[in-house]
Amino acid sequence: MNDVPEYTLTRKRIKNLRLTVRAPGGEVVVSAPAHVSENVISAFVADKASWIRKHQERLANTPQPLQAGPEAEALRQHMKRSVPPLVEYWAQQMGVPMPSLAFRRMTTRWGTCNTQTKRVTLNLELARRDPSLLEYVIVHELAHLIERGHNERFYAVMSAHMPDWKLRRRVLNGAPQR
Ligand SMILES: [Zn+2]
Repeated sequence: MNDVPEYTLTRKRIKNLRLTVRAPGGEVVVSAPAHVSENVISAFVADKASWIRKHQERLANTPQPLQAGPEAEALRQHMKRSVPPLVEYWAQQMGVPMPSLAFRRMTTRWGTCNTQTKRVTLNLELARRDPSLLEYVIVHELAHLIERGHNERFYAVMSAHMPDWKLRRRVLNGAPQR
């Protein structure tokens, strides 16, 4: 056989062949019904080779979640120095009060804004991304000081201050780039 990506086969009580590329390592797992032969399965995997490689590359380029420890601490110190002037700049641009800032490891969000206490918390992970993405999250959280919800008014505030915010959001959330 030529060019069949390596894969792990599991037999299951399912109707069709199923192939997944698993995060974080890019392991290829094929689930197959009992009656499908190994030849058919490996042809199926070979057929999907370029799709598999593309996924594996994308996983390889995705930074692993930040662990607590020296790296996280270094990023926190870096953000403590570099972020406040940026937030100050944007707060002035947008006409909102300067919030207090916190930097934390977060697994599901890039930032949060407590509109009551006027506190913005930013994901440490942002220090490992392009600065334009950090800036997008800052503008997003500051926009909550004008409008709490993700509604039309909120997005109008975003567009007024950062016309390309949608593009930045797409990049930040890892959608494929053209
Ligand atoms: Zn929000």
